[in-house]
Amino acid sequence: MPIRRLAEHVINQIAAGEVVERPASVAKEVIENAIDAGATRIDVRIEGGGIDLLEVLDDGGGMPAHELPLAVAPHATSKVDSAEDLQHIATMGFRGEALASIGSVARLEIRSRIASDDSGSMIVVDHGAVEEVQPVACPTGTRVTMRGLFARVPARRRFLKRPQAETSRVRRVVRDLAVANPEVAFRLVSQERTMLDLPATNQRGRFIAAMGSELTDELLEVDQEREGIRVLGLVGSPATARPTSAHQVICLNGRPLIDRSIRHAIKEAYRGLIESSRHPTVALLLEVPPDRVDVNVHPAKTEVRFRDDRLVYSIVRRGIEAALAKADLTPAMRPTGGDGPWAPPAERALFGPRDRTSTQSKSSPSTQRFDVPAARAAMGTGTQAPEYPVEVIEAAQPVVQIHQTFLVTQDAEGLLIIDQHALHERVMFEKLMDRLDAGPLPSQRLLMPEMVEASSEAIEAVDSIGPLIERLGFDLTAAGPDVVAVHAVPSLLTERRVSIGGFVSDLLERAGELGSMTDTETAAREVLDMMACKAAIKAGDALTHREMADLVSMRERVERSSNCPHGRPTTLRLSIDELERRFGRR
Ligand code: ADP
Ligand code: MG
Repeated sequence: MPIRRLAEHVINQIAAGEVVERPASVAKEVIENAIDAGATRIDVRIEGGGIDLLEVLDDGGGMPAHELPLAVAPHATSKVDSAEDLQHIATMGFRGEALASIGSVARLEIRSRIASDDSGSMIVVDHGAVEEVQPVACPTGTRVTMRGLFARVPARRRFLKRPQAETSRVRRVVRDLAVANPEVAFRLVSQERTMLDLPATNQRGRFIAAMGSELTDELLEVDQEREGIRVLGLVGSPATARPTSAHQVICLNGRPLIDRSIRHAIKEAYRGLIESSRHPTVALLLEVPPDRVDVNVHPAKTEVRFRDDRLVYSIVRRGIEAALAKADLTPAMRPTGGDGPWAPPAERALFGPRDRTSTQSKSSPSTQRFDVPAARAAMGTGTQAPEYPVEVIEAAQPVVQIHQTFLVTQDAEGLLIIDQHALHERVMFEKLMDRLDAGPLPSQRLLMPEMVEASSEAIEAVDSIGPLIERLGFDLTAAGPDVVAVHAVPSLLTERRVSIGGFVSDLLERAGELGSMTDTETAAREVLDMMACKAAIKAGDALTHREMADLVSMRERVERSSNCPHGRPTTLRLSIDELERRFGRR
């Protein structure tokens, strides 16, 4: 076949393949245009998941009649003048191809009027065929109506999901744009049913309205700036974490985007405060100078490339960590409330406190005792002055142990109930982390190497984590095709009488996974986490008064003591307010 130039409507259809994937992508483009036009209220109406009908009505500046043909022409835009402008993303859309693309794969009607004109005008693009502009009566602003998406492109239509699924994607787009633009009122109506109705408000009000009123008392503010990059935002307390990341909105200069690296930074910031299968509720607004980001990576502009991606990662992570560090994350006890740690959702039971660590304690109750001097020695403080002077302990609050599992005590705000294993695990973990910052952990050589069976893959993987486990105090060598010899282990394990064979074989089982982690800090945390869990006192261990007092006093001294390293709560609080209310004192 000879080489030919493609007809314009074919070019548009190809472009449409990039910009217009489904009703949600049409909604995104058209709503962004409305925001660019200065709208203060945007109404979205859909039928059949937006496939049959998708209409966006705005009260923005509108377009005069002679501009309508340009608006639907490819590469026609009022927002980019020169290639230099591409550096700037002050407005939200700028490729000038969205309307042309939509018009090539559906029937598109645009009615628009500018304030200084008495009447409006309308243009229709029917599957690529542009019709004459006609006068119509309409209010100031623009109404964009799309019908029958992909009606004549069956191959693309097949990729659409059922209307219900498309509706929920449209809802997500509207919700995210609403979180990014709280000063604009938004409404979404599907099959005559109002799905979102969000009046203009401030950032906090909008986030709560869009994400759920249970966040009202649970939001922490993030504000971090470094080298001209700023992260503002609202993040939910760990108690508001959800099973998917659908409640995270990340915006760059006012535009929602998808960014794996930022999602990872968020996850890392919450590490140890929520279970790893759950996701925090987050709205982050990134302000990055336009010349330091390339938005043109993705046709729909939902992915970007940062010039300083490591810096952005670190600002997000540190910003959230700082917000979490400032807050008191101990969950309040609301015995009547349906949610929260008091009425654990079913999935929580999987990680419930009665896990294998408690069965283990039953087999050897006396060897698993919480031994303060030994624990201290293990932390590398040896025989030096005690870290927590006795005065502190004696001035501390009364503590009782119940069912050899929980400690009950008080603080200024009320009654505290502590899970002894979870809290001790967190305390050990934090101390190990601090200790590791100072250098390799103290190691104990074994008189006789202990032989541990392992798969050949595990033995191979040990090489890849060699430097890491050495830093942690292990000395392991391959002693055969399926045997590893353990020559030394972290002293903590011997002092806390943890079964060496069992621990090393658990470690080997995870060696492949640890070896594939690119971030050695994360891998180190994983192993420390395993150590803290095995070495900590267990449910069922009887504690002396002094041990209890010591543990409780450490609660205030270590970071993130509200949750164990797996994210389960260590402490629950029943406030005096709540008690007084329940006993009818107020
Ligand atoms: P882009 O947004 O990249 O410029 P579009 O194809 O989305 O490209 O829109 C083309 C042009 O049409 C815009 O630059 C703008 O001038 C005009 N336009 C589109 N939608 C609206 C609207 N809702 N209100 C006012 N002008 C609009
Ligand atoms: Mg646009």
